[in-house]
Amino acid sequence: MHKVHVKKDDKVRVTSGKSRGAEGRVLKVLPGSGRAIVEGVNMMKKHTRPNPQRQIQGGILDKEAPLRLDNLMVICPECNQPTRVGRKRLEDGTGVRFCKKCNATLS
Ligand SMILES: [Zn+2]
Repeated sequence: MHKVHVKKDDKVRVTSGKSRGAEGRVLKVLPGSGRAIVEGVNMMKKHTRPNPQRQIQGGILDKEAPLRLDNLMVICPECNQPTRVGRKRLEDGTGVRFCKKCNATLS
């Protein structure tokens, strides 16, 4: 499993695919499948069947489909641009991510 550059609550931009150019907040990272769910991006209609026994109403639900991490760029909160994320180690040994454009440390 490779290191994931995207974290929950990051703001990201989609760089390819049909949602190209869309921006949103990361709701969930799925490192196992190399994907992430981004709020309001790549919406899919999900059909649910009514199941009275489980009190589920049938209908169509809008739900975010996961996007490939390769197609996501983190938007730096400091310089407000889609950027590549670097990693560095602080003196106390903790690893942090940083913006390769403005060098700001990302949480
Ligand atoms: Zn920056």
